[in-house]
This record gives sequence, C-alpha cells and structure tokens, in this order.
Amino acid sequence: MAEYKKNMSLEKVPMPEQEPNVRNKNWQEVSLGYTLEMAQEEAKRCLNCKNHPCMNGCPVAVRIPEFIQQLIEGNLAEAYEIITSTNSLPAICGRVCPQENQCEKFCVRGIKGQPVGIGRLERFVADWHMQQPPEEACPAKKNGHKVAVIGAGPSGLTCASDLAKKGYEVTVFESLHVAGGVLMYGIPEFRLPKDLVQKEIERLCACGVEIKTNMVVGRVQTLDELMKEDGFEAVFIGSGAGLPRFMNIPGENLNGVYSANEFLTRANLMKAYKENSSTPIFVGRRIAVVGGGNVAMDAARVAKRLGAEEVYIVYRRSEEELPARAEEVHHAKEEGIQFKLLCNPLEIYGDDKGWVKGMKVVSMELGEADASGRRRPVEIPDSAHEMDIDSVIMAIGTSPNPLLRQTTPDLNTSNWGGIVVDEASMQTSKEGVYAGGDAVTGAATVILAMGAGKKAAASIDAYLQGKKD
Ligand code: FAD
Ligand code: SF4
Ligand code: SF4
Repeated sequence: MAEYKKNMSLEKVPMPEQEPNVRNKNWQEVSLGYTLEMAQEEAKRCLNCKNHPCMNGCPVAVRIPEFIQQLIEGNLAEAYEIITSTNSLPAICGRVCPQENQCEKFCVRGIKGQPVGIGRLERFVADWHMQQPPEEACPAKKNGHKVAVIGAGPSGLTCASDLAKKGYEVTVFESLHVAGGVLMYGIPEFRLPKDLVQKEIERLCACGVEIKTNMVVGRVQTLDELMKEDGFEAVFIGSGAGLPRFMNIPGENLNGVYSANEFLTRANLMKAYKENSSTPIFVGRRIAVVGGGNVAMDAARVAKRLGAEEVYIVYRRSEEELPARAEEVHHAKEEGIQFKLLCNPLEIYGDDKGWVKGMKVVSMELGEADASGRRRPVEIPDSAHEMDIDSVIMAIGTSPNPLLRQTTPDLNTSNWGGIVVDEASMQTSKEGVYAGGDAVTGAATVILAMGAGKKAAASIDAYLQGKKD
C-alpha cells in the first residue's frame, strides 16, 4: 500500500448541497455528492482500525475499513466489490441509512470530533459504479426449486436476489405498478432519486429475478394458492407496514386531512408535482404535519416544495426526542419548516363545506420516564389553543396491512398485526413460509429490512436443500 498522510481534521469534508432557498422549490437531490478528491480526502480520516468497531454498527457488516483503503488507492472497482459482497443496495444505503445510529456511531474518530463519513463514501463508490458500462448479466444455473417473494421492497428484493444467485427460480409479486416499496412511493425524489433506485433494482435482478407487478397476493391469488397450485415450494413475505395510523381525534375525516403515506404516494409515485400530472393533490396554504420521524420530515418538505406557504411540524415531545435523522431535521429547518414542539392535537375543525379550517392543540411538558425509557409527555392544564391551518398530514406511524393475515389462516401475527417469526431463521408459523422487514418489525429502516431478507434467503436455501424431492 502506498504511503499517504492521514487527514486528522476533526470534521468531515463538507458535503456540497443545493442552497436551502433554491432547493425548497425544486425536486432535485439536496446533497450533491463528493468528487473523487473530496472522497479520498474524507477516506484519509479513517484510521484503518484493526478491530474495526464501525463494522459492528452495520446491520449487514459492510467491510468498511477495507473498502475505504481501496478508495484511498483509487481502486474503485475493488471498493465496490467489497461493499456489494454484503450490501446489495449501496447507492440507496449510502443516502438513507441512519448512519449516526449505526456504522458511524461506533467510529473511533467520532470520540473527538465527527466520525468518518462512511455513508457518504459508500454513496460515492456506488455512484461511480453506476456510471461505468453495465456488466454482463450472468444468471446462475437453475437448481429446479421455485420460490415466491411477496413485496418488492428492500427486504423482498434482497431475499430474491440472494436466492436467484444460488440458482432458485424466484418470482417477486408486487401489488403496485413499480418495484421498490417505500424507496419508490415514500422517500421523496430530493432525498433518493427514483432513476437511481430503478438502476439499483435492475442490477440486483439481473441475476434472474422475475418481478410481477400489479399483483396483490391475498386478492388476485392467496399465499396458499401460490404454494399449492403454482408450485412455489417456499415463500418470503416482505409486504412492509403500509397501513397508516390515525390519532382517532374528532375531524380526521374532514377534507384536507391526509395520511403521510397517501400524501407522499401521490407526490412521489403518482408524480403529482409535475405540471402535466393527472394526479390530484390538495396543498393548503398553512399545513400541520403531525409526528416527528423521517416520514413527517419528508411530508413537510414535500408540502413546502408543492407551494405551501407555512409548514409546521407538530410533535408532542421536545427536539431531543425527535425520532427523525438529525440531518433531516437540519435540512427541514434550513428549508423553512417551522417546529411546534411539545404540542399535541386535540381536534381538527372544519368550515361548513367540510374542509379543514383549523386545529385545536394543547401544550405539553415532559414528565416521568415511561416503559420505553423516554420521558412521557403530559398536557399542561389550560394550555389548549388553536392553529389556523387548512390542511393536516398525519405522520404518526404505520402498521402491516391486514390482507395477508386475513387470507392466510395459519399465519401467526402479534396483537399489533406484525408477522411472528423465529428470529434466528425468519420462519413463520407456516412451513416453508418466511418473513422479514417492516411486516415483522413494524416501521424500521431500509438496512434492517435488507438484513432480514438476507437472513431469510439463507434459511430458505437450507430448508429447500434439506427437503427430500
Ligand atoms: P416496503 O418498503 O414497505 O415494501 C413492501 C412492498 O410490499 C411494497 O412495495 C408493497 O406495495 C408490497 N406489498 C404489500 N402487500 C402486498 C401484497 N399483499 N401483495 C403484493 N405486494 C404487497 N428508512 C431508512 O433507513 N432511512 C430513511 O431515511 C427512511 N425514510 C423513510 C421515509 C418514509 C416516508 C417512509 C415511509 C419510510 C422511511 N424509511 C426509512 C423506512 C424504510 O423505507 C422501511 O423500513 C423499508 O422500506 C422497509 O422495507 P420492506 O421491504 O420491509 O417494506
Ligand atoms: Fe453504514 Fe448503512 Fe453502509 Fe452499513 S449499509 S456501512 S450502516 S451506510
Ligand atoms: Fe475507520 Fe472509523 Fe472504522 Fe476506525 S472505526 S476503521 S476510523 S471508519
């Protein structure tokens, strides 16, 4: 390895970004990505630690110091090989992984200063690879076994690709008209460009995965019919958690109240933001987004780009407890989103035509810690007041859609609707049926869903190889 001088700067090489007042009016990506020089400068902050603590924070154990060393030497193809040996969607993870709670949380450079920008470097290498001529697809020799995957989100796609590489004939059934799950319908273009998602999916499926879209399992065909009539010997369920939750307060069925899922789907998947789009979307002048996670930040920033004059995040705890990534909160603030913290909705009220006119809210303070260890928000007496708004977006969480459990009688689910699996193998209560991702855990992260898909693929392989024909 050639000698080089380590970069002992306490701070990451800054990420070039669009100006806040420019980007909050367009849909192009906010972060523009490193140049090669910037990426190598940041890579030189890595100390190549022998015990690589950063890897312990990555749910798919990307060999971080190894790929970073290859990047420093300019061996980008080798760096890419190392990353993709465990992470099949690196351009996506480099952008949306909550690195501050995962790989970067454990980086020793973070003890005194900022950690190495591992996500940014992963994104750089993946983006570089995307600009190279496509490689020849080399589908593996078929082994004669058929596997069905329900849902083309990150968990399903990862499971499908791992099995196809081993020679299984894999068919992915997806209810929407395009593959990608939340990556396509939830996370907005300015955070995760959709052509990039499609390119990563194409590369992932080049090993012989067939994707059948517009196919709702449980409606067109049941899971049991797929196994008994169509000859699928094993099934992976990666159907996500797309069912929105509401607060059950008065006024939630007024015109102008959305779930974040519906609002984001109209904007992202149905392209309501395009001038010639036929997708209707109502954007108020003053919008309240209820919730404090990534979904709430995305909905608020989309609403701003769609022309709302004032957008409020209404969250019942304080800034410290906001579940959204720190970077997303920072970007939202820069773009002019206003934060109404320690505040909880009581009622949405409307005009005589049934449209939202305002929201009654109450101020909160933090009390004793609850079972989750977080301080419980409690209402401050006599603090109810009104917000003058004309649209509300509810972003307070989602649950798994009940269709599969309703149409698959012997599939065990928990009281909140999550599919119950054996954590070591991801096997469900039904023989030959495995599950993972948000359908099992509830709303979580892309990389955890991918990790679950990978684990399930290994178990399905072991199950089918052990089965007598
Ligand atoms: P999904 O991505 O939900 O995919 C499930 C797929 O199954 C969908 O395409 C659905 O149409 C399909 N499906 C459902 N039922 C059926 C059926 N019966 N038949 C056929 N197909 C079916 N995570 C991060 O790591 N970082 C982020 O920044 C981040 N931001 C987010 C922002 C938003 C707005 C949202 C909603 C989520 C965000 N997440 C983020 C969470 C992350 O996207 C999810 O945890 C992840 O996508 C879960 O993957 P999955 O494969 O389990 O499910
Ligand atoms: Fe970090 Fe995510 Fe990449 Fe793992 S996959 S190294 S957690 S950015
Ligand atoms: Fe490099 Fe940080 Fe990992 Fe050490 S912990 S190898 S400095 S990325």
